[in-house]
Amino acid sequence: MTLTYAIGSTNNVEATDVVVGPLEDAARNANLTDYESVYRRSIEDPQGFWAEAAQALHWFEPFHTVLDESNAPFYKWFVGGKTNMAYNALDRHVQTWRKNKVALIWESEDGIVRTYTYWQLYRDVNKFANVLKSLGVRKGDRVAIYTGRCPEQAIAMLACARIGAVHTVVYGGLSTEALRSRIEDAHAKVLVVADGSLLNGKIVKLKEIADQAVDHAPSIETCVVIKRTGHDVDIRNGRDYWWHELMSLPIASARCESEPLDAEDPFFIIYTSGSTGKPKGVVHTLGGYMVDVYTTLKYVLDFKEEDTLFCTSDAGWIVGHSIVLYGPLMHGITTLMYEGAPAYPYPDRWWHLIERHGVTLMFTAPTGVRGLMRYGDAWPKRRDLSTLRLLACAGEPLNPEAWRWFYEVIGQRRCPVIDNWWQTETSRPMISNFASLPMKPGSCAFPVPGVALDIVDEQGQSVPPGVEGALVITRPWPSMLRTIYGDDQRYIDQYWSRYPGKYLTGDAAKRDADGYMWIIGRTDDVIKVSGYRLGTAEVESALVSHPAVAEAAVIGLPHPVRGNAIHAFVLLRAGYSPSEELANELKAHVGKVMGPIAKPETISFPPTLPKTRSGKIMRRVLRAQALGEPLGDLSTMEG
Ligand code: AMP
Repeated sequence: MTLTYAIGSTNNVEATDVVVGPLEDAARNANLTDYESVYRRSIEDPQGFWAEAAQALHWFEPFHTVLDESNAPFYKWFVGGKTNMAYNALDRHVQTWRKNKVALIWESEDGIVRTYTYWQLYRDVNKFANVLKSLGVRKGDRVAIYTGRCPEQAIAMLACARIGAVHTVVYGGLSTEALRSRIEDAHAKVLVVADGSLLNGKIVKLKEIADQAVDHAPSIETCVVIKRTGHDVDIRNGRDYWWHELMSLPIASARCESEPLDAEDPFFIIYTSGSTGKPKGVVHTLGGYMVDVYTTLKYVLDFKEEDTLFCTSDAGWIVGHSIVLYGPLMHGITTLMYEGAPAYPYPDRWWHLIERHGVTLMFTAPTGVRGLMRYGDAWPKRRDLSTLRLLACAGEPLNPEAWRWFYEVIGQRRCPVIDNWWQTETSRPMISNFASLPMKPGSCAFPVPGVALDIVDEQGQSVPPGVEGALVITRPWPSMLRTIYGDDQRYIDQYWSRYPGKYLTGDAAKRDADGYMWIIGRTDDVIKVSGYRLGTAEVESALVSHPAVAEAAVIGLPHPVRGNAIHAFVLLRAGYSPSEELANELKAHVGKVMGPIAKPETISFPPTLPKTRSGKIMRRVLRAQALGEPLGDLSTMEG
């Protein structure tokens, strides 16, 4: 087994180029043993590549055109094809020996374990699909899901998929205003909500938060309430119904044919924070998402029939859609969903889950690795992690120190670490390491088959190895976003205008002499905190919604565990004066409006904010000041 930390080949442009592996066993048994030839084929004959990939799944009617580019950038994939995600994730398996294979294991923070076979999940999804229909949900209607991590979250998503309703899952860590604005933007008709969810031993009162949001979100006609924690909640007559009561009505029969849907029918909307204050509803359509996620995960996560996958993400994020739910279920493997916090009641909770459920694949984010690394090696060492065979990580750069800990202490030098780069908009890994290739800690390695990318300068010219530039995707791919919900122009402006014909990722990157990709970070006003994207404008508008605040600017500064932390600069209205109490009140206010994740680490009250002559806040100046770095070009700054 090649295990030594060899220093990379002499032509490397970076001194950081430590090379590890490939690990012999993992490489030999990998689904993708010949990366170069598969990648080359996918680029030389993309249509042939994707047409062939699509055959692995069920189509009620075949597509006649793989890619329609006639109305770019509104690309269409698998045109004419009719299919259904729930059919591909469930029906396909219940017709085989997998019928009684475990599809989903859920463990609550307080230790309850619920297990669903493919057959059981199939039945519950059929039943809830009938419930949704009885509530008047039709193909194309939007259903918001705000449940925390519980089996019903997965069932609700799959039930929407079955009847062609468009789900929008909102992360349980987001608060009233974030939920309300997402419901309002999507014009959701039904809200599926849990009474609460456990986090660090406390109940997050989801229903209570949702009530405040729904009071100001008139599109919601019905709330379906899951009894998870069992605490008292307010049930509004005529609007709120218990999930378990609806599921026991005759209307909830266990047969609901899956609707043959158009490949380009909208599948789900997922909101992300962009560089404006308004949440962005990223729209994904069915056929391309399905084929692309299926194909990519086969290579990137090396799925095998006997795998149990533990992905720590929430379905409120794209990783939760593709890695917790749709990817593994399309492949017929077992997925493990955990409700709570990673270090509760002890810092070995994740490692205990791996031991208890015999997890083979683990997928997490760098913030999770760094957070648990702090507690030392003794916690994972007291657990049996020998079932693990592959570790994967996405969401932020995985710094080499955390990489090493993940690789050595968790993977015990047996498991490749698959660092993979993607976005809500791409819906699946676009750049990744593969089990068969050497790894470089801190690099997310190579483009995934089917992905044509480049790193370009201001003029759009490719930059040579070692030089930073803007990361762009140069060709459409099946699981790409199709638009921003209700705002086609924003889709064009944001992604396709800077370099015409190329998709702008918003990230800066460089490639080393061996072709490995290194992500430098965002180039826009987006801060990643604990792996979650927060737009500066959304946090600033939460601050300004407090009566004391006249103007606010927020920046991200490096944080050892969370990747970045938010620092806010606030100008107060007349009549208010700076104080620690006010700073604490503002932090709490942001937490209440946006969710705890958006709470600023510090709040300062400078006399002015640096602005351009046109009045735009120069966040880069605030950053440079905070870091003690040179302030750069100040020629556009207000005098
Ligand atoms: P989101 O859509 O919220 O998941 O955020 C996507 C952003 O996360 C990307 O544009 C990158 O800035 C960052 N990101 C995701 N995966 C990685 C990775 N493996 N390495 C570095 N940055 C990453």
